[in-house]
Amino acid sequence: MLMKADASSQPSPGAPDEGTPVSVRIRERIQAARKRFHANDNIAEFIEPGELESMLDEVEKKMQGVLDSMVIDTASDHNTGNTARRVAKMYVNEVFRGRYVKPPPITEFPNAEHLNELMIVGPITVRSACSHHFCPVIGKLWVGVMPNEHTNVIGLSKYARLAEWVMGRPQIQEEAVVQLADLIMEKTQPDGLALVMEASHYCMAWRGVKDLDSKMINSVMRGVFLKDPALRREFLALLPR
Ligand SMILES: [Zn+2]
Repeated sequence: MLMKADASSQPSPGAPDEGTPVSVRIRERIQAARKRFHANDNIAEFIEPGELESMLDEVEKKMQGVLDSMVIDTASDHNTGNTARRVAKMYVNEVFRGRYVKPPPITEFPNAEHLNELMIVGPITVRSACSHHFCPVIGKLWVGVMPNEHTNVIGLSKYARLAEWVMGRPQIQEEAVVQLADLIMEKTQPDGLALVMEASHYCMAWRGVKDLDSKMINSVMRGVFLKDPALRREFLALLPR
């Protein structure tokens, strides 16, 4: 029941400190809890209902300031007239949503069949943006799971949901795969977990060295994948190359 649009002109009744920007209120709560709020941290627990709408308005105003500083005539240029609002929505509601919303609900099932064979899920398409330039990072992810009889089993699509939540933040690929590995370990507690991510970083294609073909590949191994080279080889051999 969030009301759209006029939030800037009509602050919600009873909102605390009307004059304080919503970002300041949220930051103060995070700091009071002594938590981190780096670009790839999720801060959903510190955001109260309705505040994301206010954040959208705040980001729009500041984005308009960026366009003004770049001397773009948004008043008469029909192409950029609504760009500040569009960019704010894209950041807050779409590409960086994984910072602001709670984790996707995951239904876990007991491993009734006592599965204990290597299972591979992928390729899962992953979309993110680098923390350095806010340029897209787009690639593929493979997940290898070695369950044990106590491992919770989650539906295959849930790996994609968890990946989307972690990648939906300004990220650094090496940190993103570690965050995702921690999350999947916590949710399913398998004997082993292996992740491989291969992605194109558009900050290298669009700017910088302007290399269109380079990709970054990295992997994280946990549990039995660390201890058992044969299992690791089996997993890597099964990935389509
Ligand atoms: Zn970059």
